[in-house]
Amino acid sequence: MSTSLPPHAPKDAQARREVEPVVCYPVQTLPPYNKDFYETARQDLSLLETVIIPPRDALTFAVPKGHFCRIRFEEGPQVGDLNLWNAHDLNERFFSGKTRALHATHVSTGDRLWSNLPHLRPLATITHDTLDWYGWDEFGGGVHDVIGTRCDPYTNHLLSGNDYHYCCHSNLTRALAAHTGMSLDEAEPYVHDVLNVFMCTGFTKDTHQYFMKASPVREGDYLEFFAEIDLLGGLSACPGGDCGSSHSSEEAACYPLRVEILKPAEGALANWTSPALSGYSRSHGLD
Ligand SMILES: [Zn+2]
Repeated sequence: MSTSLPPHAPKDAQARREVEPVVCYPVQTLPPYNKDFYETARQDLSLLETVIIPPRDALTFAVPKGHFCRIRFEEGPQVGDLNLWNAHDLNERFFSGKTRALHATHVSTGDRLWSNLPHLRPLATITHDTLDWYGWDEFGGGVHDVIGTRCDPYTNHLLSGNDYHYCCHSNLTRALAAHTGMSLDEAEPYVHDVLNVFMCTGFTKDTHQYFMKASPVREGDYLEFFAEIDLLGGLSACPGGDCGSSHSSEEAACYPLRVEILKPAEGALANWTSPALSGYSRSHGLD
């Protein structure tokens, strides 16, 4: 779609376009990011567990509430597709769409990762992002998006006619099935739209299509979040590798990702409470 007006545009087309936008969800009513609390809590962390996600595959990992999780560069530039579930109820899971609407198309330090309806509470808070310097590039791209769903074999089949079995959707489905003992058919509906960790994406300026470009992630980089409730995570090392060229195939160079679970020092969470479920009555007007 062009920004110039077509001949059939109404006389007041320009005036209609010039109406000022308003932010859909002003978040000033939310409790502000408590930087002092998280920065203090993350000063003295002990490493509890390390999980290495193999390339073109996924694994699950537990992050107990009040713990930190770091997703790290391991051997080469690699994008990770992250799912988060309430460890005690898989029906409560990450809601990438509302996270995008509340925060932005790409997330970084201070943003919360929200759960789906009717739960709608912070599952996690992003507490450190070594790529926060990236900001927005000249193409409109940013890092760590919540716009790209996840690569999946159905869209790949739709567009190419081929079956490819190591898309993030399939990797996460296999990982969740292996963890829970569910069949693939049972596990698949729990796999949801992801946080694309380290992925550099945006919308093209001319056609507003979703684009990707090679991730700027380098050795030493990590994204860190604080678990606000007991979490089960699932992370897929995307078959797109750094997502600089292709995905949903064996073509791109792929690398592992490192997941670290870290525990704060005793007493660091003294005044912290895990967030409650949404306070909405759920009557939907019928009580
Ligand atoms: Zn993927």
